[in-house]
Amino acid sequence: RTRFLETFDQLPPSGQGAVVVLNLDRFALINSALGHLVGDRLLNAISPRFRPVLPADGLVARLWGDEFVFLLPGAERASATQFGNAVLAILQEPVTLDGQRLDVGGSLGIALYPGDGVAGVTLLQRAQSAMYTAKRRQSGVAFASEMGAPPAHEQLSLIGEMREALVRNEFLLYYQPKLDLHSQKIVAAEALIRWRHPQRGLVPPLQFIPFAEQTGFIREITPWVLETVAAQTMQWRKDGLCIVPSINFSARDLLNPGLVEHMRGVLASYGLPADGLCIEITESALMEDPELALTHLCALAELGVKLSIDDYGVGQSSLAYLKTLPVHELKIDQTFVRSIADSPKNAAIVRSTISLCHELGLTVVAEGVETAEDLDWLVRNACDTAQGYGLARPMPAQDLPAWIAAYRAKTGAVS
Ligand code: C2E
Ligand code: MG
Ligand code: MG
Repeated sequence: RTRFLETFDQLPPSGQGAVVVLNLDRFALINSALGHLVGDRLLNAISPRFRPVLPADGLVARLWGDEFVFLLPGAERASATQFGNAVLAILQEPVTLDGQRLDVGGSLGIALYPGDGVAGVTLLQRAQSAMYTAKRRQSGVAFASEMGAPPAHEQLSLIGEMREALVRNEFLLYYQPKLDLHSQKIVAAEALIRWRHPQRGLVPPLQFIPFAEQTGFIREITPWVLETVAAQTMQWRKDGLCIVPSINFSARDLLNPGLVEHMRGVLASYGLPADGLCIEITESALMEDPELALTHLCALAELGVKLSIDDYGVGQSSLAYLKTLPVHELKIDQTFVRSIADSPKNAAIVRSTISLCHELGLTVVAEGVETAEDLDWLVRNACDTAQGYGLARPMPAQDLPAWIAAYRAKTGAVS
């Protein structure tokens, strides 16, 4: 990616050309069925095949996982299409590893400059989202120009700002404790991102995460969250505080074949055991490409991380998938929890969800617990975990240990 962006920046500013993003099909499947060593060898076998079709002044770079970018200076729509078809033809030829034939295939997204944008980052993002469309439509190739107008000017500046924010360390994580209602101990906490913006102050996630998802920038954010959480958790462990953190995944994350490998790497390098981490996913994240999402969820579950269904009850909740997904925990959405006291119907829904989950062997978390009455109701109705302003608001990482100590002292719970 760095190489691509550097090369792009050195091009004459007035030129035209194409940025083509390739994502391999079925790579995740091959990786999980045959192991990532085979996956690595497959990448090594495939990448040299692109050279002969690449123009002399062109560039091929690996973005990550099974994703590549090609830079074609001077190309216009027709020659970019021709190049795309040549790449797809190359991928049609099966790869043989250890006598085993592997069919790969791929999906391509093409962004043309200057029409679709003038900055390398923008073109990369637009080509990436076109690639996702090609994958969804199974059409092989899609153009960024088909995705509608380029983002408005202010949105373009927001993408730039987010990139800067990552470099300048403006993102930070707050943690909100989760109370185990059986032991009355704080054993877990949810990591929630914030943006300390130089002009706008502390920006809540709903003001930038949806945009990051839309533009693909979430692919930079989630790995940062993961790594920051792993480092923080290990620091707490060293200080004698064992907390299972949960992090939020977006739909894009679930479709990203590189993420499982990335997670394996992060866990290993920080020495955090996989079951010391929980991933929260929403129902809608599963809907975009259920099959692929399920493949990646299974790979995550196999790694040993805990999986949690977030905001349960507001989306297209389907009881059927609770049975098929490798999840450990379900978080009942705040809208149900907050009305337990005055809505007998919501109370009935929460009560029956708790018993259904227990029969399926899942732990239930109630989100948005704001009052002592709600908390009391949840204990009486056998809910396992509570999270909400009634216990604590999300707080900076450095405040959590003291808060937990004070909570322990107040409730008299023995650690
Ligand atoms: P979520 O995962 O459902 O997180 C719970 C949200 O509810 C948090 O808002 C939390 O502050 C808020 N909350 C907790 N208890 C209460 C309560 O008692 N009353 C009320 N009114 N609200 C409560 P926050 O931090 O603003 O995050 C909003 C959403 O942004 C999250 O919803 C999650 O979907 C997303 N998000 C946050 N951090 C990340 C991240 O690192 N990555 C991704 N992909 N999404 C994130
Ligand atoms: Mg969450
Ligand atoms: Mg939630």
